[in-house]
Amino acid sequence: MTHSWIVMTDLDGTLLDHQTYSFDAAITALKALQRAHIPCLLNTSKTFAETIQVRADIGLNTGFACENGAALFIPKAGGSGFSSTDYNAEILGCHYPKLLKVLHQLRQQGFLFRGFNDMTALEVSALTGLDSESASLAKQRHGSEPIVWQDAEDKLPAFRQALAQQQLRLVRGGRFWHVLGANDKADALHFFTNYYQQLWQQPVKVLALGDGDNDASMLAAADLAVVVPNPEQTLLLTDDHVRYAITPGPKGWSLAVLEWLQTIEPSLNQGEQRG
Ligand SMILES: [Mg+2]
Repeated sequence: MTHSWIVMTDLDGTLLDHQTYSFDAAITALKALQRAHIPCLLNTSKTFAETIQVRADIGLNTGFACENGAALFIPKAGGSGFSSTDYNAEILGCHYPKLLKVLHQLRQQGFLFRGFNDMTALEVSALTGLDSESASLAKQRHGSEPIVWQDAEDKLPAFRQALAQQQLRLVRGGRFWHVLGANDKADALHFFTNYYQQLWQQPVKVLALGDGDNDASMLAAADLAVVVPNPEQTLLLTDDHVRYAITPGPKGWSLAVLEWLQTIEPSLNQGEQRG
């Protein structure tokens, strides 16, 4: 049976330049995907509020996943895409209010830490280097909480264990620790694969692109994966379905996607029929 493809991609350091956050170098490939009727879906650690802006700038109208697979958004017909009411949301992780409740209880048990919800946008801005508007977008969360650990290092295992009892995980990120549910980016990949299989009534394969540790599960779950090199630390994956882009960021993204499009050209007729 024939199959169709979708493309799923990380943002920072992958489709967006590590330094400038620009996707300009990927425009050719983004347009080629559009012409081939291959949906491009974002799968990012960013929040909903942060993602909708980038998604509009790129010109995408597809569904997307935020906060490392915690929250998925499927656009409703006719919406502008700038309000949460324009989407059907699927929370695969722990709902944010419940997550905050658990963190509140753990603080009362004596653990010392500070989360985005405890901070003003100004504090988040000072810690992240984001401007204050971006910081307030980063504070609007659905299913994960970045925290600054203010307690002794040797109390982390007990904290981690207390979280695990509530089905929550503690993951180390670049600047913060992140508290989140059992979700990861692969969950979003599986969800959207099923979504398109239902929609198109045919098997769907996924090309996934990413650059970081938090992309590893998504890349492993894809049918074909492209690791975009990261100037600081390039992800090492050795599976047969993994390729490496020849250069970092959107330029590498674009070259890898265009090269891949050449290889699947014969099956593109399906996309044309789908209109
Ligand atoms: Mg990244």
